[in-house]
Amino acid sequence: MSSAQPAFGTMFRQLIELGVVEINTESLDAGIERRLKEFWESMSCPQCGHQSIVTWEELDRIWCRDCNFKPVFTYGTPFHEKHLTAGEVLLAFTLYADTLLSINQIAPFLGRAYRTVHTAIREVEAAVQRGFPVVWSLLDQTIDGPTQVDESGKVCSGYKGEPPRNSRSRGGLSQSGRSRWRRHHGDQLTLVAACRDSLRVIRGQLGIDYSGDLEPVIQEAEELSQPLREVWTDDHQAYREMERDHRTVVHKETYVSPEGIHINQAECLFSFVQPWLRKFRGLSKQGLEQAAHTFGIVRSL
Ligand SMILES: [Zn+2]
Repeated sequence: MSSAQPAFGTMFRQLIELGVVEINTESLDAGIERRLKEFWESMSCPQCGHQSIVTWEELDRIWCRDCNFKPVFTYGTPFHEKHLTAGEVLLAFTLYADTLLSINQIAPFLGRAYRTVHTAIREVEAAVQRGFPVVWSLLDQTIDGPTQVDESGKVCSGYKGEPPRNSRSRGGLSQSGRSRWRRHHGDQLTLVAACRDSLRVIRGQLGIDYSGDLEPVIQEAEELSQPLREVWTDDHQAYREMERDHRTVVHKETYVSPEGIHINQAECLFSFVQPWLRKFRGLSKQGLEQAAHTFGIVRSL
């Protein structure tokens, strides 16, 4: 099961290398350009603060009539100054965030170097994380009900190592090449998740030793969906020490308490995030935490 997507990625790469499939992001590029220009027309100038920005359909520059500021329409967005078109940036990030394809498999789709795609994806990811609270607050929604909090077992992002240099393995089923990788486990973390309605918050922790470790995700969930109501957990030691009012389900006995307390959403989330994290090759703790946080954001949206 877990190898289904990477196999698909390999097959897709071969189809692209053979020229059977061609990725064309032209209409996507045009759509992003139109949306960004609409956005600029409703914005005040980043230079002088006046609302006097003009755009043209046929020009990639926008213009402030007041201070003569004339940047390209991607200025200040994650699409700015990339070696990729806006559509390629969006497609790369979408494939990264919402499929089990690795960046190694996404780069050939776009006919671009690994490093170029990696840099673009990481920068969009940082922008998505910065912008998420604002986007979330603009969505017309009611987040209600209890917040389920749970921690995963140790997770890691698969193996660090260099891909095979042997050119014979390229294009073929790379099993022989793959076995030549020097494999080391990536850094390991425990994940903590808070689930409330459609909201998903995931953070990495080095270990769950005391209740203070749980506070960051609960606080983040509270900031995004206040006021926070009941917090549901299992009966892990850390939760027993938790100062916050909460209700528990005793897991050794049952998955749903007689009062209907459960943490099924959080457990379900971990079952999705773990195969997704395995597609990365040996992320550092920081990279792993960032990726897990992104996964929560994408699931929430
Ligand atoms: Zn201006």
